[in-house]
Amino acid sequence: MATLLILGAGTAGTMLANKLRRELSDDWSITVVDQDNRHDYQPGYLFISFGTYAPGRVTKERWAQLHEGIETVEGRITGVDPDARTVSLADGRTLGYDWLVIATGTRIHPEMVAGLTDERIWHKKAFDFYTLGGSIALHDALEKFQGGRLLVHIAEMPIKCPVAPLEFAFLADDYFRRRRMRHKVDITYVTPLDGAFTKPVSSRALGKLMVDKSIRLATDFDVEAVDPATSELTSFDGRRLPFDLLVTIPPHKGADFLVGGKLADAMGFVEVDKTTLRSVHYDNVFAVGDATNAPTSKAGAVAHFAAEQLAENLLQAFAGEPMTHEFDGHANCFIESGARKALLIDFNYDTEPLSGVFPAPVVGPLRLLRESRVNHLGKLGFEQIYWRMILPGRPIPGIPVTMSMAGKVPAAQTKDK
Ligand SMILES: Cc1cc2nc3c(=O)[nH]c(=O)nc-3n(C[C@H](O)[C@H](O)[C@H](O)COP(=O)(O)OP(=O)(O)OC[C@H]3O[C@@H](n4cnc5c(N)ncnc54)[C@H](O)[C@@H]3O)c2cc1C
Repeated sequence: MATLLILGAGTAGTMLANKLRRELSDDWSITVVDQDNRHDYQPGYLFISFGTYAPGRVTKERWAQLHEGIETVEGRITGVDPDARTVSLADGRTLGYDWLVIATGTRIHPEMVAGLTDERIWHKKAFDFYTLGGSIALHDALEKFQGGRLLVHIAEMPIKCPVAPLEFAFLADDYFRRRRMRHKVDITYVTPLDGAFTKPVSSRALGKLMVDKSIRLATDFDVEAVDPATSELTSFDGRRLPFDLLVTIPPHKGADFLVGGKLADAMGFVEVDKTTLRSVHYDNVFAVGDATNAPTSKAGAVAHFAAEQLAENLLQAFAGEPMTHEFDGHANCFIESGARKALLIDFNYDTEPLSGVFPAPVVGPLRLLRESRVNHLGKLGFEQIYWRMILPGRPIPGIPVTMSMAGKVPAAQTKDK
């Protein structure tokens, strides 16, 4: 019997295992490893911060999302030996494999910013919303906030869901308006990038939205430290930004067991060929989702498109055939902008987010890089699509796995809009 071992049963690992179980014969065993039995719908953390979702809404049993015929192992992975083809767990168990897929995602490391986790401010004045605990604590802080300087801050790239901090800033504007205290809150978006987002067309559109919402923008901010005594965020070029409330996206790294190993870069992201997702070091090792060093967004939608292509390639590789499916870095993300509206961006390795309509030319109905109610409904609907279609590994009708130019306005035509 041949063995496929999948490390991590989050978005990508769960979807891939379910999809492959339907395709592979009983001569194949599929085993999935994860450290606990709690699967969170992470986009929900944003809504928990503002009290729109109750914390219990985002969590389901992890193992219940995996289909019959998939073996599950609960334990913390501590190492991979790709030469011996073994994976070790914290409790001393060792698992062997013929083929390995790493889908252990990425997580935040607030301790990497000097002063941030100082007990005088961490989860008192400085918060994350990238963990369940962080978003619950932040909700409490927002409810008690009586006004002052709010910094929404990205420490460094890459981060997962690079639009989530933008959404936080827009929703904060809306939240304080609804509490009739927006005039008491000074919101600044602090980013290491040279604009509101990574690419020119979307950066201009999102930057304009910030101006409309009176959100200040501090760019090229290379964070040095947080000063817990004075509640200031400092940069290497000498800027000091005082805050009454800091909402930060700390640095991200791959899983600890990958850092310093044979498969990953210095930050623990698995080094892969960006189209096949095969390890550049070992032919029987692949990675998918946030765990890779592929130069696209780290997002659930990306993990979904990538897992679709990887599943097809793995079936070919298992059969000894050449892999013919290419992941193009396709990303598709809703950006909540407050007042029950949202924007949508759709892009890949080669094409930046453009304006236009999605998924069908002319009729849309979703609008690219423009606010609309329909986009907001799309964002809310994504939750059910996640549990009912993405995790079970079912295709989403009408949404192409590779990016399409249908409905998009080329960059040259949108420059001055
Ligand atoms: C606040 C927030 C908002 C977001 N909003 C969106 C959005 O609107 N749209 C979107 O597309 N994406 C969004 N995302 C991103 C999305 O949730 C992730 O990109 C997606 O879950 C990545 O899937 P993954 O399978 O690669 O990693 P994960 O789903 O994180 O799964 C990784 C798994 O590996 C396991 N693991 C890690 N290390 C070990 C170990 N040592 N031993 C055992 N198990 C281990 C973990 O327990 C976890 O289950 C958001 C994320 C956050 C935090």
